Amino acid sequence: MIQKPIPYGKQNITQADIDAVVSVLQSDYLTQGPKIAEFENAFAQYIGCKYSVAVANGTAALHLCTLALDVKKGHKVITTPITFSASANCVRYCDGEVLFADIDEESFLIDFEQIENILKTDPRVKGIIPVDFAGNAVNLEKLREIANQYNCWIIEDSCHSPGGYFIDSKGKKQNCGNGNFADLAIFSFHPVKHVATGEGGMITTNNKALYQKLLMLRTHGITKDASLMTKNEGGWYMEMQTLGYNYRMPDMLCALGITQLSRAAEGLQKRKQIAARYDMAFKDNAHIILPNYTEGHAFHLYVIKVENRLGLYDFLKAHQIYAQVHYIPVHTMPYYQNLGYKKGDFPKAEKYYEQCLSIPMFPSLSIEQQNYVIEKINEFYK
Ligand SMILES: *Cc1c(COP(=O)(O)O)cnc(C)c1O
Repeated sequence: MIQKPIPYGKQNITQADIDAVVSVLQSDYLTQGPKIAEFENAFAQYIGCKYSVAVANGTAALHLCTLALDVKKGHKVITTPITFSASANCVRYCDGEVLFADIDEESFLIDFEQIENILKTDPRVKGIIPVDFAGNAVNLEKLREIANQYNCWIIEDSCHSPGGYFIDSKGKKQNCGNGNFADLAIFSFHPVKHVATGEGGMITTNNKALYQKLLMLRTHGITKDASLMTKNEGGWYMEMQTLGYNYRMPDMLCALGITQLSRAAEGLQKRKQIAARYDMAFKDNAHIILPNYTEGHAFHLYVIKVENRLGLYDFLKAHQIYAQVHYIPVHTMPYYQNLGYKKGDFPKAEKYYEQCLSIPMFPSLSIEQQNYVIEKINEFYK
């Protein structure tokens, strides 16, 4: 029997994960305890950055980044329409204006030429939020060069690509989120992501000043660090220096993150194997366009472009295979339409959306399940 339903993405929870959570439940700290720094350090090591800050979820991570970079009314920020809406919403949380740049048809990533066209004409752009869509790493070395010419910051939305990388001009691997080019990068630990804790997120950076700002913003704008306080009235003393939030990640979830992270590299290998099997299975199918990718792809998603996408989606669903569409272009959402965007504004993103389908991709997808997915897709196009 093949285990069904088969979703497009799914967490993988082991006994070690369960034990780690239970042991925190039996400890002194449910939140603000030692598991937070332990998870942050392990994550920084995995990614290869200096600092990391665990937060409540990926969206909170984005919000803290736009706060730390002082986004405000009058500021404009560029992102891609092919992303989860949070990549754009974080600009709106701070009253900034979102500008979209259309995607590159081959990589589905934000098109640098489109970014430059905006930057050349609009001096109010303060920053760029590229997304390592599907696990495909944005070339941040090139984007940094462009951003520097126009004095822009970069927040890398790496939710799809922990363990992913691009090859820089010197032939060196540059891990997504490593902080060598972007000012800040963010990750999510939602159950469909590589590291799953239910809710949870991480900000990574090599910038110490931003790091310290993020620590304060994560916990109400309060510091207990004596070296940062204006005075000290005793052991209890702490200072609220800026308006922050409670965006903390509790210790149970950090403990789960640690055990999940210890299997992340293995999970990534599994994702690559699954992608290679799909590539083989569909390479001669004239109805399917396979994804283009390079060696550093982290395969959060395996996106195919197909004819009659709705028909295939419904056919798979009838067979308990839950494919998904990533993404409905953000600028076509009613909220952004009310801000003045309209259908037709970003034709490449819209054309991509007409055809894209994310088929099941997660490390615990069995060979039998994958064969079933392949068989049903081929059957549909017969
Ligand atoms: C999942 C995701 C987010 C948001 O993360 P949450 O933890 O769900 O808040 C943001 N951007 C991208 C690209 C994502 O995939």
